Amino acid sequence: MPLLEVSNLTVEFPGRRGILRALDRVSFSIERGEILGVVGESGAGKSLTGAAIVGLLESPGRIASGEIRFDGGRIDNLAPEPMRRIRGRRIGTIFQDPLTTLNPLYTIGRQLVETMQTHARISDSEARRKAVGWLERVGIPAAGQRFGAYPHEFSGGQRQRVVIALALCAEPDLVIADEPTTALDVSVQAQIVALLKDLTRDRGTSVMLVTHDMGVIAETADRVAVMYAGRIAEIGPVAEIIRNPAHPYTDGLMASIPSLEHRVDRLRQIDGAMPRLDAMPDGCRFHPRCQRAFARCTAQQPELMAAGATRAACWLHA
Ligand code: SF4
Repeated sequence: MPLLEVSNLTVEFPGRRGILRALDRVSFSIERGEILGVVGESGAGKSLTGAAIVGLLESPGRIASGEIRFDGGRIDNLAPEPMRRIRGRRIGTIFQDPLTTLNPLYTIGRQLVETMQTHARISDSEARRKAVGWLERVGIPAAGQRFGAYPHEFSGGQRQRVVIALALCAEPDLVIADEPTTALDVSVQAQIVALLKDLTRDRGTSVMLVTHDMGVIAETADRVAVMYAGRIAEIGPVAEIIRNPAHPYTDGLMASIPSLEHRVDRLRQIDGAMPRLDAMPDGCRFHPRCQRAFARCTAQQPELMAAGATRAACWLHA
């Protein structure tokens, strides 16, 4: 049984001019100890998928249909309190904005110690020792001395590292990391990526890694889900997706993967823009930008289908 199983997840935003469907029947799973990368342009639905899983959709967004199962049990219909407990203890979250996660009034040491002591019975001195260890692992220099510092005393990049330590110190089964390394410089990025990989190997932690950065995915993920306009365009093993992309959109993304040293935003290379939620084209949502589109593409929406070693929502593989 996979640790996380998302089936036909549909998220809608009711608005004045009708209902906007931001996620449309998204299905995927994550095994224990697996890192699933989720990649796509901003607005594709990557972050929304993460937020829906942990019950943090911003109002008026709502799960309109579908199911989310975690460790065998449904979590898409949980009340706020049980969901909050799962979120702290079993599913760790690393979101883009560290200031929304850290409490400005408490030292970061206190926040780490309290988080660990909420989830495990450990003495103050043991918790302190572990907290310093986590700060060291995420690359905070002189961690022992910084233990008593407040969030505003850290730089933006360091705050992000503290958030990562805070998410990992409760030793969750699943980490949902949304652009965890974007604000960090290259050497720290590599350190965080290595840390996530160690956790999956040593503790069997599963990771959903949301990013627009194919370079980070290529170095970290086991499998990749490519999202486009609220749907999964392609999903499969990372090596296959990179070497043999089956969906023309993935092909565009993979045109060349930047190395960690030469970071460039390759996603801008595909001509045109992703359609707006209130102006989704009929048929394949990618057809206005697809150089390989044919008659069926404008009339009928493709579902994920077998395409070599991956699954792609594209009529070329029908
Ligand atoms: Fe392109 Fe058609 Fe495949 Fe869509 S279904 S990606 S338009 S070839």
